[in-house]
Amino acid sequence: MAEIIIHQEKIADVDAVLKLCPFGAIEVNDGKVAINAGCRLCRICIKKGPAGAFELIENDAPVADKSKWRGIAVVAEVTAGKLHPVSFELLGKARELAEKSAQEVYAVVFGFRLAPVAEELLDYGADKVVVYDQPELEHFRIEPYTAALEDFINAFHPSVVLVGGTTVGRSLAPRTAARFRTGLTADCTILDIQPDTDLDQIRPAYGGNIMAHINTPRHRPQFATVRYKIFSIPEKCRRDGAEVIQRKLAPSALGSGIKVLEVKPKPPVKMLEDAEIIVAAGRGVKKPEDLAMLHELAELLDGQLASSRALVECGWAPAGRQIGLSGRTVKPKLIITCGISGAIQFAAGMNNSEFIVAINSDPEAAIFKIAHVGICGDLYSVVPRLIERLKGSMA
Ligand code: FAD
Repeated sequence: MAEIIIHQEKIADVDAVLKLCPFGAIEVNDGKVAINAGCRLCRICIKKGPAGAFELIENDAPVADKSKWRGIAVVAEVTAGKLHPVSFELLGKARELAEKSAQEVYAVVFGFRLAPVAEELLDYGADKVVVYDQPELEHFRIEPYTAALEDFINAFHPSVVLVGGTTVGRSLAPRTAARFRTGLTADCTILDIQPDTDLDQIRPAYGGNIMAHINTPRHRPQFATVRYKIFSIPEKCRRDGAEVIQRKLAPSALGSGIKVLEVKPKPPVKMLEDAEIIVAAGRGVKKPEDLAMLHELAELLDGQLASSRALVECGWAPAGRQIGLSGRTVKPKLIITCGISGAIQFAAGMNNSEFIVAINSDPEAAIFKIAHVGICGDLYSVVPRLIERLKGSMA
């Protein structure tokens, strides 16, 4: 850990110093120049400020005793009594990591009336299912959920905490990680583990141009979030001696500034992530009206229409239909890409699909490197022929 300390006596012009920081992290507190939480350690104040006024101090943080932090924990997510499937995917990965590093797998779950959920988690290979089953936890509210996860970590000391990259997970994981002053890697796409329980957290960085390997060698636990559909759901397999452990939060930990007045279920929408067949449209489509042709192809296959970011940026497709690094991650049985170049940021969201068919007029298009079947041609001639064939086979 590093911090910037200030030598007040070397600052003559306070107003000039306050303007130095592009993040507004320099302020005056009790008549003294101070650094606030906005500091990004960019060091501009050291370079551009009065000579010697700002100094970077490197403090070596103590290394956690890794032998006291054991177990791979998965935060299972429940909404209206149903487990989010990312919980099962994470349990599959947790089991793999646990086998490699001789650790146990925990599933921890918060909610109300959780008995069936706990049984289901046992079926997916957790050694211990830790349950916080209290009426106040029925709906997600950040303060009691954070308190519950904190309680779990303090009680069981897992070395790794895996959280789904969902709306709930993206809120809960960083807040809890901050309480333990430990690292969190968001949206990991690959996870591996060292025998000393250091987690290799791998994710695309710099717009998908590199795969960053991130480690947390000095702190425990190690937090990682993973999006839905990155890993596969494992086969059901109950472990010998697997057990459910009930824990309760004290009433003082259950308080929240959020009051749930009413829960209105959203009308069911077809989630792109759940589609088994996807037809994806890219910039090779020349006019928005032409998407009707791809829509027809998707319907004939009983699939869903998706797009690259190019069409979302044109306003021709909604953001929720975008596949890729900054969109959805999908893993359908079949995806047909139409006029999509296969940029790394698009491929990152679909390259785990079971069967990829690419239609592109450019024989050099990158999409052909990941496609199982490539059709080099004009989508305006290939797609209508596919539609004809499908209609013919249905007649
Ligand atoms: P293009 O790259 O323009 O490709 C069009 C393709 O259509 C070409 O290969 C061309 O040969 C082919 N074509 C043209 N006419 C025809 C025809 N008549 N018949 C058949 N083929 C034809 N992109 C995403 O998609 N998803 C993301 O999540 C995403 N996130 C990003 C995040 C960052 C940080 C950055 C920097 C970029 C991101 N991008 C993302 C953008 C990405 O880099 C590409 O620009 C984008 O994927 C290109 O979309 P495209 O393949 O539809 O268009």
